[in-house]
Amino acid sequence: MTNGAIKALADQVRNGDRGALARAITLLESDAADQVLERQALLEAVLPQPETGIRYGITGIPGSGKSTLIDALGLQLIGLGHRVAVLAVDPSSTRSGGSILGDKTRMNRLAVHDAAFVRPSPTGGALGGVARRTREAMVLCEAAGYDRVLIETVGVGQNELAVERMTDLNILLMLTGAGDELQGIKRGIMESADVVVLNKCDGENRRACERTRGDLQHALQLLPARANGRRPEVLLCSAMEGTGIAELADHLERSIAQDRSNGAFAERRQAQWSDWLDGAIADALSTEFARDARILQAKEEYRAQVTKGHVSPARAAAELIALFRKGGAPPRE
Ligand code: GDP
Repeated sequence: MTNGAIKALADQVRNGDRGALARAITLLESDAADQVLERQALLEAVLPQPETGIRYGITGIPGSGKSTLIDALGLQLIGLGHRVAVLAVDPSSTRSGGSILGDKTRMNRLAVHDAAFVRPSPTGGALGGVARRTREAMVLCEAAGYDRVLIETVGVGQNELAVERMTDLNILLMLTGAGDELQGIKRGIMESADVVVLNKCDGENRRACERTRGDLQHALQLLPARANGRRPEVLLCSAMEGTGIAELADHLERSIAQDRSNGAFAERRQAQWSDWLDGAIADALSTEFARDARILQAKEEYRAQVTKGHVSPARAAAELIALFRKGGAPPRE
């Protein structure tokens, strides 16, 4: 793409053209070496932007009701005058090509709403690549006028921590009756939650939810307070019936307002940019390393030695990096 074409695309995105936004995100999802400069130019054409957009992370195991909740919460936010984008971070899609989070048809009402933009998970690439793509897509959505971005992720593996570092508030979705182990509730996940939402509190489940709320509140008291000084509140809702959704939206928006006034919001945004820089450096280095023809060949030789136990992986890595520093062959396209 020429510079002019990139600028035109960025202008269309900023005008809220959904087709252009989808094309722009597709361009950013590319890992092609010859598009790195285009990707940079596109991002730079929409940055900096005013920090009117808010990023909410939504984490929960499959079946906890993330998509049902996002559908309901998204509509609630739209009712409050916002435009809502939904992005999914799905590590499974990078490994198997399959997806835990599924596709956008799960959010039926939101997917067809004029004020919403729902993007299924990026596929392919390493986990770091998923983080990069999600961040970049998020910034494009904000540039297109979606001032509430909901980032959905399954709370397993490492990805929830990456998501914590790209959002302004994190919502952990839980169920009553499912054991902690089943919910993948490790300390780290609880610690990265700003709000805990117990979903499916309807019908016969309602009373059990009240009990679980008490237990969770107690457990949360034992964790350190979040950087903004708060401890997560436990809210009850039924995403299916729509109860508790208005209260959730209200709680989220009030928390953000509070964070804005006490400086916690700005601090967290700075951490997001800083983390993005670290991620970009790591991505760029490993990409260059992987594309270096001399390294590619030497790596296979070392691999043979390492697997036979003749050379330690640490030594092989150090020697490969020394070779890389000396300047390998030009990158293979
Ligand atoms: P996800 O995998 O986390 O995205 O979960 P889904 O939103 O797909 O929901 C999983 C299942 O739980 C679906 O059958 C939903 O209809 C159901 N579900 C979601 N929210 C609620 C709720 O509030 N109450 C009840 N009873 N079922 C719900």
